[in-house]
Formats: sequence, structure tokens, C-alpha cells
Amino acid sequence: QDVTALLLSRIRDVPDYPKPGVLFKDITPLLADPEAFGALTETLAGLCAAQGATKVVGLEARGFILAAPVAVRAGLGFIPVRKAGKLPGATLRQAYELEYGTAEIEVHAEDLAEGDRVMVIDDVLATGGTAEASLDLIRRAGAEVAGVAVLMELGFLPGRARLEPALKGAPLTAL
Ligand code: IMP
Repeated sequence: QDVTALLLSRIRDVPDYPKPGVLFKDITPLLADPEAFGALTETLAGLCAAQGATKVVGLEARGFILAAPVAVRAGLGFIPVRKAGKLPGATLRQAYELEYGTAEIEVHAEDLAEGDRVMVIDDVLATGGTAEASLDLIRRAGAEVAGVAVLMELGFLPGRARLEPALKGAPLTAL
């Protein structure tokens, strides 16, 4: 009943994807295993409850896959944070730095409000840029951050350090 070992055993390392020199962490074997996906969902839903979350944000695209069942299991609403240009309603938009260039993410402004406590879920924390920008969006919407939870943190990148100031004391959990 070691969930961490089960989850680890279902993550595939793909060398040189999407480009030479990158070791890609592929979660599709985990998603295909109902025992592992179920254990991950239960664990993250428990974290939402423990941290007093009232909404679950998933980060496009793999974050959607993980966060949606967690939201249902925890009895909370699911809010997508999408790459710019995909959401039809009025949005808040946040730019952030990539290794080369910048990217932008958006959330529907009406999906978050004062009084909400938001759990942010994604598969991988790499440089921390995406998660950091999502916390900015959440706070700009007037909501609070309950925490950030990821399946994996790439320990050889300074993602945790980059995210630290934006967390303002909220926990970052890497399973
Ligand atoms: P960051 O903004 O640099 O932290 O990048 C995080 C985003 O890139 C997440 O949304 C991940 O889905 C994606 N990502 C980065 N590296 C990997 C990987 O090895 N496997 C899967 N997704 C990754």
C-alpha cells in the first residue's frame, strides 16, 4: 500500500522528447491503470479537503486530466486555466517567461471570486513558471490559494524556489 511506489512505477521516462537532451516524464501508463489513477485521485482529493480548498484549478493540458476527477471526488468545482485564446468568456490573462520567449494563460473571470480557496493541480512542476502565473491569476481574481499539488517535481530544476514567493505560505505538494 505504498502509493508513491505505485505511482512511480507507472511513470515512463522518454529520452530525447520533445527534443534531444530532454528526459520526458510520461504519465499515460499511470492514466491507463485504474488502480494507480484511482490512488492518485484519492490522494489529491484528500489534500484538497485537508487544505480547505473550495475550488480545483487544473492547468492545461495534463493538469485537466488529473484535476477533473479530483474535483468530482472532493465535491468541488473544476476550473480550467487555459493557454491564451481558448476560453470564450471574459478572462483574466497572465504572461510568464519560458526558457525561450513568453507564454500566456487565462481563466474565466467569473469562475473565481473572493472567498474561494483554490487548489492548483498539474502533472509536472518543471521551472515553476506555469504554476507561478496561475497563482497570480487566482489572486487577481480575488481568490485565495489553498495550495499547489503536482504528481512530480523535477528536482534538478529550481521550480520550487521560483514558486516559493508566489505561494505566500501555501503548501506545494509533490507526490
Ligand atoms: P513549467 O512551467 O516549466 O513548470 O512547466 C510545467 C508544464 O510543462 C506543466 O504543465 C507540464 O505538463 C509540462 N512539462 C514539463 N516537463 C514535463 C515532462 O517531463 N513531462 C510532462 N509534462 C512536462
